[in-house]
Amino acid sequence: MTDQIEKNYDIIVLGIGSMGSSSCYHLSKRGYKTLGIEQFDIPHNLGSHNGQSRIIRKAYFEHPSYVPLLEGAYKNWEILQKEFGEQIYFKTGLLYFGPEDHLLIKGSRRSAKQYGIEINNFTTQEQKEKYPQFKIPETFVNMLEKNAGFITPERAIIAFTKLAQNYGAKIKTNEKAVKWYKKEDSIMVQTNRSVYRCKKLVISVGAWMSELSNVSDFKVTKQILAWAKPKNWEDFTLKTFPCWTYADNSSKGMFYGFPILPSSISHDGYQGIKFAHHFKGEETDPNNVNRKVSKNQEGELLEAIQKFIPKGIESIHTSKTCLYTYSKDDDFIIDHHPTNEDVIITAGFSGHGFKFTSVVGEIVTDLVEKDNSDYPIEFLKLKRFSKNSI
Ligand SMILES: Cc1cc2nc3c(=O)[nH]c(=O)nc-3n(C[C@H](O)[C@H](O)[C@H](O)COP(=O)(O)OP(=O)(O)OC[C@H]3O[C@@H](n4cnc5c(N)ncnc54)[C@H](O)[C@@H]3O)c2cc1C
Repeated sequence: MTDQIEKNYDIIVLGIGSMGSSSCYHLSKRGYKTLGIEQFDIPHNLGSHNGQSRIIRKAYFEHPSYVPLLEGAYKNWEILQKEFGEQIYFKTGLLYFGPEDHLLIKGSRRSAKQYGIEINNFTTQEQKEKYPQFKIPETFVNMLEKNAGFITPERAIIAFTKLAQNYGAKIKTNEKAVKWYKKEDSIMVQTNRSVYRCKKLVISVGAWMSELSNVSDFKVTKQILAWAKPKNWEDFTLKTFPCWTYADNSSKGMFYGFPILPSSISHDGYQGIKFAHHFKGEETDPNNVNRKVSKNQEGELLEAIQKFIPKGIESIHTSKTCLYTYSKDDDFIIDHHPTNEDVIITAGFSGHGFKFTSVVGEIVTDLVEKDNSDYPIEFLKLKRFSKNSI
């Protein structure tokens, strides 16, 4: 039975995962009376933010338009770390390798050139000397983005949430928003426990977006992450091994991976070399995901990794699932809701959104405060879709 108590807030944020936790932090820091509502625990492993590590890079192969946002993201990760007193961004460098004509190489070079991002090209000999763990074909380009690395997602979400609470935000967990509607000058949010009132609403519910707002045709896919124990642990530590990503023309998407995280930052406790395949996985329903990873799937992933990291990775000891959410054109959405200017949505962050989390909260807060942001986000607005699709 729904408890009929109404409570008043300036802003309610639905979904305290990646984007929602950052929004709660930025909103409460700017003095807004904020309520965050999360259907599960904070963090959890049923959405898009589990798995200990997320790559952060600036030479953006997807499109140079993302680079100004990344400048803000890098700046905000530094601020967050200082404020929270823990390291969340780890600068390991990112080694890219693949054929010269592949989007991964061409697109990264394009963004690097346009924005003066430092990328070092290696000869095969130099690569072998610096990172002997890899065996990369001589025909491939090797390049290193020195200032890239990884963010620890669960720890970042905890930091955003705790700091938001310190700034006065109220956070409710294990409470699901069921619907929202306009009432006089306010927006009402009904959950499975209560009804709340706010002036402005932020919807950041990731893979569940279609349940609360049908602003685009979202597709949710199941993705797999795997961890393996190498024979020689020392070859793959933060000090000896970079983040890496490769593409070759024989498989779709890209493969990528991380050094071994020290146990102090390995959320959930499992340790090893982590790797994954970045491509559109099997479509799924976020409320009914088959989380089993078959031996076949693990085998394919391991084979793709062993091709270029041949020494010492023998078997996968842990595999997990995680969800990508794609908008109709695969780009993110950060905008006002088409039917209500007081509602802001963040959605469709697919497989590369986490690094932006720290700046998305700032942009959301700008949209709440002044209806626009100094960040160039025109390309992320809904008007890019034809009217028929909304
Ligand atoms: C395998 C994998 C690897 C990735 N690798 C990278 C990477 O290397 N670099 C990178 O930058 N990005 C990466 N990403 C992408 C990034 O993690 C996602 O884009 C990002 O986490 C999406 O954030 P979100 O806030 O939209 O979703 P989430 O973090 O899932 O947050 C949405 C939240 O809303 C809650 N919610 C939903 N419905 C309701 C409701 N009705 N009421 C209350 N709460 C609700 C959910 O429980 C959830 O906590 C990866 C993603 C995956 C899956």
